Amino acid sequence: MWGFGLINGLRITMRNMLRGPITVMYPYEKLELPERSRWAVRPVYFDNGDPMCTACMACVRTCPDHILDLEVTTAEDKSKHIDRFSYEVGACMMCGLCVETCPFDAIVMSHEYELAVTDPAKLSEDLVTDVDATSAKRHREIKAAAQAATEAAADPSALVADDAAPTEKGGDDA
Ligand code: SF4
Ligand code: SF4
Repeated sequence: MWGFGLINGLRITMRNMLRGPITVMYPYEKLELPERSRWAVRPVYFDNGDPMCTACMACVRTCPDHILDLEVTTAEDKSKHIDRFSYEVGACMMCGLCVETCPFDAIVMSHEYELAVTDPAKLSEDLVTDVDATSAKRHREIKAAAQAATEAAADPSALVADDAAPTEKGGDDA
């Protein structure tokens, strides 16, 4: 209909004139980031402070920018020690492939977005240094315990039944 576009344009103009500001006074005010925001890669730790990284190198091989690197020492018993897990945050495109690849959920795309620095040297950093890598066995044990706890919470009667018949499972611990 003739004139409809004009009326619609005026309606949008009025709506924008009457609404409040959509900006905030950054850095004094900060907007809450969407949960899926991807910023700097950061390591994840167990409750006791041990890093969850097993030094499997999957993330290093996956990174399309080649900006992750692990220097690892392997002992005779095959346990690994992470000398240095380095990350060039200044070259990271925050694609998240390293996080998706990690089989142990040992790194995350954090919400740490205030990454500007005045010293370019700070654009390369160490995620973890001089720590023992976690074993895959430890991850499996923690996962199994969490799954058992979830199942017990979902079906408390199973837990009661298990408790009521200790003699049948008594030999498993030996
Ligand atoms: S987010 Fe992408 S570019 Fe950045 S370290 Fe991970 S894989 Fe590499
Ligand atoms: S962060 Fe994950 S993928 Fe990368 S070395 Fe550690 S365990 Fe492996």
